[in-house]
Amino acid sequence: MNHAIRVHEPGGPEKLVWEEVPRPDPKPGEALVRHEAVGLNYIDVYFRTGLYKAPSLPVTIGMEGAGVVEAVGEGVTDLKPGDRVAYAGALGAYAEARCVPADRLVKLPEGISTEQAAAMMLQGMTAQYLLRRTYRVQPGDTILLHAAAGGVGLIMVQWAKHLGATVIGVVSTPEKAELIKAHGADHALLSGEDIPARVQEITGGAMVPVVYDSVGRDTFLASLDCLRPLGLMVSFGNASGPVSVPDLGILAAKGSLYVTRPTLNTYTAKREDLLATAQDLFEVVRSGAVKIRVNQTFPLKDAAEAHRALEGRRTTGSTVLLP
Ligand code: NDP
Repeated sequence: MNHAIRVHEPGGPEKLVWEEVPRPDPKPGEALVRHEAVGLNYIDVYFRTGLYKAPSLPVTIGMEGAGVVEAVGEGVTDLKPGDRVAYAGALGAYAEARCVPADRLVKLPEGISTEQAAAMMLQGMTAQYLLRRTYRVQPGDTILLHAAAGGVGLIMVQWAKHLGATVIGVVSTPEKAELIKAHGADHALLSGEDIPARVQEITGGAMVPVVYDSVGRDTFLASLDCLRPLGLMVSFGNASGPVSVPDLGILAAKGSLYVTRPTLNTYTAKREDLLATAQDLFEVVRSGAVKIRVNQTFPLKDAAEAHRALEGRRTTGSTVLLP
C-alpha cells in the first residue's frame, strides 16, 4: 500500500489530491525510500500552479525527502536496506514511499534526524551554494537578503553571520523582523520600506556587493539599486512572480552590474558537488553554527493546508510534511 499527493491539473491548493498509488519497484540504479519526512519548498507551489511544467500529469510533486532505504535496484552497491538517506531536487516526494536515483541520495550522518534532513537538504544546500559559490561571502561583507525569515532565508542569515558577514534582511512583518534578529541578522528591514534608501543609510552610501533575491517580480528592480558598482544580483526565486529581464542596458546604467539566475540542480549536478555541498551543510548544523528551525509540521495528506500557509506568508523557517 502506498499513498501520494498528486496533481491532475494545475491550480490552487485544492488540486493536491491524496490518493492510493502503486508501490514502486526500484529500477536499475534506483533505491526505494520509505519517507519519514518530506520537505515543503516554494518550488512545490510553482509545480502545483504550472509556473514550472511537470513532465506529465498526474504528477506527484515535491522535491525533497528523507527516510529509510527499503530495497535497491540492480547495480546499486553503496546503499542497502535500512540506510538512513535524504535527497533534494528529485520530483515525486509527496509520497509515503518512492524510488530515487541512488546517485541523488546522501547517507545521513549520526546526529542528523530524518525530520531535520527533510527540513534542510533543499533549503540548506541552496544556502550553501549561494553563500559559498555563487558569491563567496567574505568576513566584513555586508549582504542583502530578501525573505530572510523563510526556509532558505533563516538558514542563510545564520550561515552568513557564521562567515563573518553583516546581514541586512528584508521581511514583511515586525514579528519576522524580531525572528531574524534573534537568528543574528544585524538589520531587519520591512518590505514596505524604501529598501535602497535604507541600504544606503546602513552602508554609508557604499551599497552592497551582493543581493540575494528570491521574491522576484516585486523586488527585482529595487534590488539592483542596492548594489555597489560591479555588484552581483542573485535572483534565485519567484515568490511574487517571475522576473522578466529588462533591457540589459539597465545593468550598465546602474554600475556595470552582474545578474545570475542560479538553481540548486546546476550546482549539485555532479555527484561530487552534491556530496561536498551536503557535507558542508551537515558540518554547520552539527557544530551548531546553523540551527534548522522546523517551525511548522503538517500531515502529508494535508499538504494543501501547508501550501496555503506558505503562499499566505504565514510560515517561518522550514516546514515538514509527515507521511
Ligand atoms: P520561504 O519560506 O522563503 O517562503 C517564501 C517567502 O517569500 C514568504 O514567507 C514571504 O516572506 C516571501 N514573499 C515575498 N513576496 C511574496 C509573495 N507575493 N507571496 C508569497 N511569499 C512572498 O520559501 P522557501 O524557503 O521554500 O524558498 C524561498 C525562495 O527561494 C523561493 O522563491 C524559492 O523558489 C527559492 N529557492 C530557489 C532555489 C534555487 O536554487 N534557485 C532553491 C530553493 C529555493 P515575507 O512575508 O517575509 O515577505
